[in-house]
Amino acid sequence: MNEHDELPNVVMPHPPHRNLLRGQKALVTGANSGIGKSVAMFLAQEGADVVVNYVYGDAAAHEVVDEIKAKGGHAIAIKADVSKEDEVQAMFSQMIADFGTVDILVNNAGLQKDAPIDEMTLEQWNTVINVNLTGQFLCAREAIREFKRRGVVSEISCAAGKIISMSSVHEVIPWAGHVNYAASKGGVMLMTKSIAQEVAPYRIRVNSVCPGAIRTPINQSAWETPQAYDDLMRLIPYKRIGEPDDIGRAVVWLASDDADYINGISLFIDGGMTLYPGFATGG
Ligand code: NAD
Repeated sequence: MNEHDELPNVVMPHPPHRNLLRGQKALVTGANSGIGKSVAMFLAQEGADVVVNYVYGDAAAHEVVDEIKAKGGHAIAIKADVSKEDEVQAMFSQMIADFGTVDILVNNAGLQKDAPIDEMTLEQWNTVINVNLTGQFLCAREAIREFKRRGVVSEISCAAGKIISMSSVHEVIPWAGHVNYAASKGGVMLMTKSIAQEVAPYRIRVNSVCPGAIRTPINQSAWETPQAYDDLMRLIPYKRIGEPDDIGRAVVWLASDDADYINGISLFIDGGMTLYPGFATGG
């Protein structure tokens, strides 16, 4: 095979269930689409009860809940804008009332509002920072309050709680035309690591997942035409786009006790996008 041969976009079939998260209560923000939906499905498949958070798209959120229930899992949908303090607090209160507690938070909700820097409006800047960074802070704070209140329940997990921040390769790769988004994800990186350092003594683990290019609505223009897909492949040494399940599978592992000694990392899931592909031929 030579490197120009066409390669299939193969993703492993779902692994057998190990019930890795049995009895755990998980909240996934932005879980009615793309990566968040896959994460919610994988967490439920491993035995967690799941809150499917969403801000718009009631039907899509209820479809995720129904899919989880059809497979024998437990899920509820809760509408809340993660950038609004009162809505986040109400969401956690409802989750604790319905499920009893919170063991896993996946801070996934995010968006882009792209523009050249000299045309970017303050509203575009603020919207992205408010959802992608402040939203993660607001949800992490509520989760940690509950983790500290409850402490470790050893039959459930070695840890008092786990937070997974959805970051991006753009926590380290600068991104022209997307400075609000790159700034938000750079912020997510140091927020995640700083929280991890602060709450580790309470047996709370906080890690980031950093996707490369994953086939979801957020980046449709980067994969929907053959030309766009070919251009994208120049940035991906592994020569395939990522699928939401590539992320869902990794989040389950990071949230599980199999990853109990992992705290404060950025886990890049990017087919090698962060390997400086421009230097693949010697630079
Ligand atoms: P998506 O657009 O399919 O999903 C984003 C989700 O966030 C949607 O459910 C949306 O409704 C929700 N959301 C947006 N604003 C919200 C708010 N204020 N409150 C609650 N929910 C809100 O895109 P995706 O690709 O699945 O993105 C999920 C996460 O992954 C984002 O944080 C994104 O930055 C990150 N990410 C995606 C890629 C990629 O290539 N797709 C790469 C790196 C990082």
